[in-house]
Amino acid sequence: MLQSHRAARATAPVRDEILYYCRESVRAGLNFNTQGNISVRLSDEAIVITPSGVRYDLMTPEDLVVVDLDGNVLEGSMLPSTELPVHLAHYRRRPEVQAIVHTESTFVNVLGVLGRTIDPVLLNMVLYAKGPVPVMPFEFSTHAEFGRRSADLMGDTVNAVVWANHGLLAVGTTLELAFKVAVAVEENAEVLHHASLAGVPNVLVYDRIAVPEGARLP
Ligand SMILES: [Zn+2]
Repeated sequence: MLQSHRAARATAPVRDEILYYCRESVRAGLNFNTQGNISVRLSDEAIVITPSGVRYDLMTPEDLVVVDLDGNVLEGSMLPSTELPVHLAHYRRRPEVQAIVHTESTFVNVLGVLGRTIDPVLLNMVLYAKGPVPVMPFEFSTHAEFGRRSADLMGDTVNAVVWANHGLLAVGTTLELAFKVAVAVEENAEVLHHASLAGVPNVLVYDRIAVPEGARLP
């Protein structure tokens, strides 16, 4: 009883931060309609996630749903995002991940429908995503088995994965970082697409970047 009470706490600042990034993702053109979802890990036992089918611009802090790691609702009256099982699979695979942002942005999807790995060609991308972002073949995204495959394909070092014909899932040790990953991958995908039409882009490799002394990395 005491445990579930502790697990269920989603404070006002956490809720406000999630709504802020929901609206930022619309403003940045990463989502349309009621697409996309965001979650934050609250403890070893619970996460808070955006509800299913609610437009980001109309969402209120009370609409967010707290669930345990088995997907049982602990707090909230809305249905959690249909991609909840996928978020849970990613949190299980990567204990350091504290936030997940799912977007459906255009150039990620351009490369995704072509089945092309999104290679880092911009500094921001290599810093935030940490490497080439793999593409998972299309399948419906609402079940745990899909989540396990998505988490396995992303692996333990790269911070994003593309679901072909659908969108992107980005992770971070904070919500701010997970959102920056989603933005960086979309920007990189757009540049990579245009550059590939004009020639052969120079691809950056995270481990081979010479970082100046004292530089602060994300
Ligand atoms: Zn989606």
